Amino acid sequence: MRDAPASSPQTRAVRAGVNCDPGHGAVIAPISVSSAYGRTDPATAQSFDYARTATPGRGLLADAIADLEGASGGVVTSSGMAAIDLALNLVPNEGRIVCAHDAYGGTRRLLDARGAQRGWRLRYVDCTDLAVLAAALEDGADLVLLETPSNPRLRITDIQAACTLARSAGAISVVDNTVLSPALQTPLALGADITVNSVTKMLNGHSDMVGGAVCARDSAHLETLSWWANASGAVAGGFDVFLALRGLRTLALRAKAQSQAALDLAHRLAAHRQVARVDYPGLRAHPGHSLAARQQSAFGCLLSLELQGGADSARSFVRALKLFTLAQSLGGVESLSNIPATMTHAAMSPQAREEAGVSDGLVRLSVGLEDVEDLWADLAAALQAATPRKAG
Ligand code: PLP
Repeated sequence: MRDAPASSPQTRAVRAGVNCDPGHGAVIAPISVSSAYGRTDPATAQSFDYARTATPGRGLLADAIADLEGASGGVVTSSGMAAIDLALNLVPNEGRIVCAHDAYGGTRRLLDARGAQRGWRLRYVDCTDLAVLAAALEDGADLVLLETPSNPRLRITDIQAACTLARSAGAISVVDNTVLSPALQTPLALGADITVNSVTKMLNGHSDMVGGAVCARDSAHLETLSWWANASGAVAGGFDVFLALRGLRTLALRAKAQSQAALDLAHRLAAHRQVARVDYPGLRAHPGHSLAARQQSAFGCLLSLELQGGADSARSFVRALKLFTLAQSLGGVESLSNIPATMTHAAMSPQAREEAGVSDGLVRLSVGLEDVEDLWADLAAALQAATPRKAG
């Protein structure tokens, strides 16, 4: 028994894999852990054969994420980095890549290493400035990698305009949608060819698995990506897929509630005398505010800030926080704090961090589902504890 088709992505995500067990009528899809699937005939291929190639559970999760992204299909990988690496198979040797200069530190580390291996010409530029992006694409390119909002400075790139420039230059456009997830932004509808997500973050939302997903608009790209996923084998395991499918059912609610709480806290932080700057696209003063309001359906759970006292105050602040665990992730139901320069973005050189605007004193907060008043009380107390004492 299958569900009737539903028009709302939220309904489809909640119902993904429900009522799909013909054997026993289980309401929730069984966890697929078998590494091999029996054949009736050695010469006749079946839907499932060997788990590196496909499993029912991984297929359900890939279809559910691809559906949210508006893609022709998707591939679920063992991590967000594996998803980005998979997409890089679309670039030939000696190819040309233009990447956002403030993309996640691990993305830049991977691109530098793969680029050296495969003779790519890499350019890291400010993709939020369309004139800069157009100039970088003047000699043509094979792939443009955008990340919007960017992690950790929450800069906003005009997806539609940037993808139009990429297409004119002959490049495939890839958007890292990790910070918002397809619940809040659908880059393929704005002209992107491919999206990548760290499923570890908003999509799963419970910080209990690591995974990734690549979704493609074009079925030819999807075929190449699926071929490489099977050939290289960086695919997700059965338990992780089960957890992510469970997390996905509440994605729409989590994304909305976490965005509301982050907006509320961003306003309060921006008004605090100890805070020098807040990066949150939901604030009117943010340079990408109107663009974000146009291409996103909410502003997301992530915000960054700098304190008046610089790096020393930032360290005292995160040490004093009790409800924001100091840890390297984002998008979970629990709030986290992070100093990107020494944690998530430590893989970047000091020069690359400076270009990307990641100062030693930048603090990144991922806002979870705790009561917002409790979160504010914790932030206000930690700001007080981090205030430098006047000499004398
Ligand atoms: N993309 C972005 C924007 C990220 O923030 C991260 C991880 O923090 C990744 C990709 C990599 O994801 P994973 O840690 O699942 O490999």
